[in-house]
Amino acid sequence: MPDLRELYQEVILDHSRSPRNFHKMEGATRTIEGYNPLCGDRLTLYLRLEGDRIADASFEGQGCAISKASASMMTVAVKGKTRKEAAALFDRFHAMLTAPKGAPFDAEALGKLTIFSGVAEFPIRVKCATMGWHTLKAALEGKEQRFAVGEQAGAAKD
Ligand code: ZN
Repeated sequence: MPDLRELYQEVILDHSRSPRNFHKMEGATRTIEGYNPLCGDRLTLYLRLEGDRIADASFEGQGCAISKASASMMTVAVKGKTRKEAAALFDRFHAMLTAPKGAPFDAEALGKLTIFSGVAEFPIRVKCATMGWHTLKAALEGKEQRFAVGEQAGAAKD
């Protein structure tokens, strides 16, 4: 059996070195900043919503490899999805990272995003992996322009 950890590591490194959809978006209908004070990760997320659908998603920012790779893969994953589908994916991704060790998660629905499951073993890194997703959720809910994971009560407790 191939070493999955190594493969996962490679995918994360690839996305952190060459993040997808890594640019400012002209004509974005939502622009929101996310910040992870624990690690110093920052990003600006751009969304172009067409009706109920995320027609386009991109981001800019600086941060650790996990935060960048996670945001990169998130933009790939949610492009073309409806708000509801994207919110459901957020819930699954979030559950995978915050569930007790060994708890099952919906690997089929998560697809490639399951490579982040190992991050759950490193609690300090969980916010790095979820920051982009929390920012997406805030953007879809029409929250403020700036969003810090874990800063506000009820915002992001993981
Ligand atoms: Zn980080």
